[in-house]
Amino acid sequence: MSSPSYDADVLIVGAGPAGVAAAVMAASLKLRTVVIEAGLTGGKLHVVGALDNMPGNWSTGPDLAQALAQDLQRLQGSGWCTLMQARAVAVSGHDDRAELTLDDGQVLTGQAIVVATGVAALTPAEADWVTAPDDLAAPPLWRAAPDSLAGRTYVLGADRPLGTWLRAHPETSKTLHVLCPPTDEYKATEVAADDRVRMVPVSHVTITRPAYGGGWTVEAKDQDGERKVYAVTTVLNNLGNRPAALEGLTQGEDGYCPTDRQHPRIRIAGDLRSARYQRIVTAQGSGAEAVLAYYYGVALREANGVAK
Ligand SMILES: Cc1cc2nc3c(=O)[nH]c(=O)nc-3n(C[C@H](O)[C@H](O)[C@H](O)COP(=O)(O)OP(=O)(O)OC[C@H]3O[C@@H](n4cnc5c(N)ncnc54)[C@H](O)[C@@H]3O)c2cc1C
Repeated sequence: MSSPSYDADVLIVGAGPAGVAAAVMAASLKLRTVVIEAGLTGGKLHVVGALDNMPGNWSTGPDLAQALAQDLQRLQGSGWCTLMQARAVAVSGHDDRAELTLDDGQVLTGQAIVVATGVAALTPAEADWVTAPDDLAAPPLWRAAPDSLAGRTYVLGADRPLGTWLRAHPETSKTLHVLCPPTDEYKATEVAADDRVRMVPVSHVTITRPAYGGGWTVEAKDQDGERKVYAVTTVLNNLGNRPAALEGLTQGEDGYCPTDRQHPRIRIAGDLRSARYQRIVTAQGSGAEAVLAYYYGVALREANGVAK
């Protein structure tokens, strides 16, 4: 049987830190790549207002995103990489190829696929510990300017952007009341010393419109079942994320996609791997490693004529 003709050696889905690191590593190994990106190169970096855990003296996400976009431009100029603006919907692995289906029905074929689609923001309707009306206006915490937060502000969830927001706005003395379910407790320790945060441990939260006046009524049930009711001006969404998995990937119980559970031609990089380890540096490392794993595994074996 003849080998299929491939659109690329490696198809990379997502041009966040993980996907761009994968493309850079692939080009260094002289592998042809197509990077498929539905939004902006840099992914979540565009919303990281303040950075303090990146080697290289990067202090904001958008600056780093711009540098990654330049990396992709350079790779495109060298002929090793093509950036395609498109949304992927499904992957499949086969003995001799991996296939990626786009939302317009087009199918791309590669020797391997690196899926680095990251995570998508959870809405209140998707969080099982929140009951809220459909028209609840809960803008994301990361985008909230301190000056826009009038009155009592409650934050749904203690996900990591809380720490980033506090670092990004050292000048504000605004108090954030953070409704924290048991699943977020391990994240809350990061901000425990900041006296602008009031943690409210909860097992369930019900948000309703008050009979009179504006704002919201928040009923918080704590872990012993005791209920407290608060009149709240602003509710912000900091619920965290759900993995942006593509059809055809094997997901664990939590929805994340461990690489060792996928077809050998399909690798996972970045935030999509696991709820833990969601950092820019680890995303970059895993993107580069996904390509190396393919290179030392499938690519060299096939180049030497060993079983497909
Ligand atoms: C508010 C906030 C603050 C943060 N602060 C920090 C911090 O201070 N330090 C730190 O280390 N980390 C921080 N993080 C986490 C960090 O941003 C992520 O760990 C990192 O961006 C993950 O990189 P990634 O490449 O896996 O995913 P992403 O950055 O999410 O990139 C995924 C890319 O895939 C694209 N994509 C998704 N689905 C598809 C599809 N179906 N088809 C095509 N393209 C698709 C997206 O458009 C996106 O560009 C923060 C995150 C947030 C939200």
